[in-house]
Amino acid sequence: MCNRLPFFGQEIQKNAFHPHPLTLNDNDPETIFVCNGCGELCRGLSYNCNLCLFSLESKCAALNDDLAKHEALKGREIQTTIYHFSHNHQLTRCKINRLQTEFHLSCMACRQYLYGLVYACLGCEFFLHESCLKDMLMEVESPFHPQHPLLPFPLVSGGYYPECRFCRDRIVDIAFICFECRFGLHYSCANYQTRRIKHNCHGHHLLHLGKSIFVKTSPKCARCRTDCNDTLFGCIKCKFYIHLECISLPYIVKHMRHLHPLTLTNSVVEDNSGGHYCDICETERNPEHEVYYCKECTYVAHVDCVISEVEPPEKIFEYLKKRRLTKRGRIDERIGIPCLLPIGELCMTFFPTQPCDALVTEADHFVYLS
Ligand SMILES: [Zn+2]
Ligand SMILES: [Zn+2]
Ligand SMILES: [Zn+2]
Ligand SMILES: [Zn+2]
Ligand SMILES: [Zn+2]
Ligand SMILES: [Zn+2]
Ligand SMILES: [Zn+2]
Ligand SMILES: [Zn+2]
Repeated sequence: MCNRLPFFGQEIQKNAFHPHPLTLNDNDPETIFVCNGCGELCRGLSYNCNLCLFSLESKCAALNDDLAKHEALKGREIQTTIYHFSHNHQLTRCKINRLQTEFHLSCMACRQYLYGLVYACLGCEFFLHESCLKDMLMEVESPFHPQHPLLPFPLVSGGYYPECRFCRDRIVDIAFICFECRFGLHYSCANYQTRRIKHNCHGHHLLHLGKSIFVKTSPKCARCRTDCNDTLFGCIKCKFYIHLECISLPYIVKHMRHLHPLTLTNSVVEDNSGGHYCDICETERNPEHEVYYCKECTYVAHVDCVISEVEPPEKIFEYLKKRRLTKRGRIDERIGIPCLLPIGELCMTFFPTQPCDALVTEADHFVYLS
């Protein structure tokens, strides 16, 4: 085979993938297509059959017969088509090479990048991970509309796109709707993994919400009046939102289920290959939410699981006294317990209710017990 660059209209007379001649198309280099040879999602130029719907990427077109037969076998196994309730058109199964992040396409169910086996309607740019398609619920009980189940309502490209009542972004793929209340959400928003906490700053339960949910809007914090676009707690019904820092959660607590004091943090160093779990209730937790954490034991717990059962603050003091487990090695009983933050950080400790708000300096910095 010669190494000249392919030119438009160039023909391949005979190939191991397809019985008819193929012609190189001068389609838009941004065009996304499935290579009917290997079953991979590709972008750019393709060889097409003039008689049937068959496309071949140039990589596959350049294979010798033996390799091509092998690829074709794998490709046929991948490319199946199905109808699924999430979309009005037929979906084709194809493969995305793990390294091909060039597509910048995301799965409509989980909003993560596409990789591995996916189902696609190319005309609508509708994509689902195979695993997301299999796990997709036909009826969602959402924390944002607990009174009624939400039902799937596939949207057609070019049609009417409703606004998601939670993140305020347009829904272009499939809406999950309560027809009775005319309330619709993205699938990913409807299924957002959250926790409810009860706090005396508001009459209703508050949901723990992370920043991934605020793509379009950043609600105002009810206490400090600045925009919330990080983690916050919210009551959707009353549009009441409050920062984590403004809700005055204790920074250090002692929970009866764990020996060591736990600190409130959003950065946990852990092996998350098995998913993210709470060590108290042993159910899943959302990794973008703050947790109570013991670094020593990699013990991680939901905020609500911890604050419902904290031991009195004196317990932390007792613990530290017993174990002498303080960063700077001493305890002043008259003042309180030493702050565990590294030097140079701003201490935002609320202990038990007042922030100490001091810059941690070389000198010991104490958190007051009362
Ligand atoms: Zn191919
Ligand atoms: Zn997905
Ligand atoms: Zn479609
Ligand atoms: Zn949404
Ligand atoms: Zn409803
Ligand atoms: Zn409320
Ligand atoms: Zn929990
Ligand atoms: Zn521990």
